[in-house]
Amino acid sequence: MPAKKFTILVIPEGSHRVRRFGLKRSLLRTVLATGLLFLLGVTVLAVDYYRISFDRAELQRLQVETRTQQTELRRLAARLSDLRQEMVVLAQNDAKVRVMAKLSKPKIDTLTGVGGPPEEDVATEFSELQRQIDQIVQAIDLRRESQEEIQGFLNDQRSLLAAKPKGWPVKGWITSSFGMRKDPFNGGRKMHEGMDIASRTGTPVFATADGIVSQAETAPGYGKLVVVDHGYGYKTYYGHNSKIFVKVGQRVKRGDKVSAVGNTGRSTGPHVHYEVRRNGVPLNPRKFL
Ligand SMILES: [Zn+2]
Repeated sequence: MPAKKFTILVIPEGSHRVRRFGLKRSLLRTVLATGLLFLLGVTVLAVDYYRISFDRAELQRLQVETRTQQTELRRLAARLSDLRQEMVVLAQNDAKVRVMAKLSKPKIDTLTGVGGPPEEDVATEFSELQRQIDQIVQAIDLRRESQEEIQGFLNDQRSLLAAKPKGWPVKGWITSSFGMRKDPFNGGRKMHEGMDIASRTGTPVFATADGIVSQAETAPGYGKLVVVDHGYGYKTYYGHNSKIFVKVGQRVKRGDKVSAVGNTGRSTGPHVHYEVRRNGVPLNPRKFL
């Protein structure tokens, strides 16, 4: 059984007097426990302090990072704003071109009239950026659609321009115009559905517009006939040729040689009987010279 009480003897040097201290076991235990608790407390504080100083460094790092990101965000917002401006200018130009081309008004996009200074709050700033990006994407889609429409329109115009007969099919002089006239063979009044251009036999005859040869053969009255289909309802006829240089289905350009002047068919002398028809209706070729 352990003792209940301890005695501590203190003997100072050069003295005979002995000092004694009585120490109860319970007191000793209390002192030891207090010491241990104190040590534990100090350790906890030290760990805590270490952690706080680590957190502080991390906080500083994060603060710097946040500031950098905010600057970056502002820069992006400014860049986006520039892009918006450019898109607005593009939209205006697009609208002008559409007016010139007499196309319908473009669809309204959401770009015009929204904006303002960037928000302070980062969260709203992000959603604002997202919104602006969505708007720009939408605007780009609209522009693309519109540009395709304009391009289609211009292609049509160009094809129409290339398809519409223009100029003289042969070098010569007009001997008979379009309209009612006295028939040179029986003297009766008859509709002349084309124009006669006299020239020497063998003189080249040219297509007056781009197209595809739809006839290249001898036809009643016309003699050796070339017909070119230009699309958009236009067809040109070149009659009384001495020679034909093209085949049915062949593509020809305006100015391509299709035949040579002759006197075949119902003809009184070498000339080209030139017809311009739209949707089958003969038109006055003089309007296309
Ligand atoms: Zn004629």
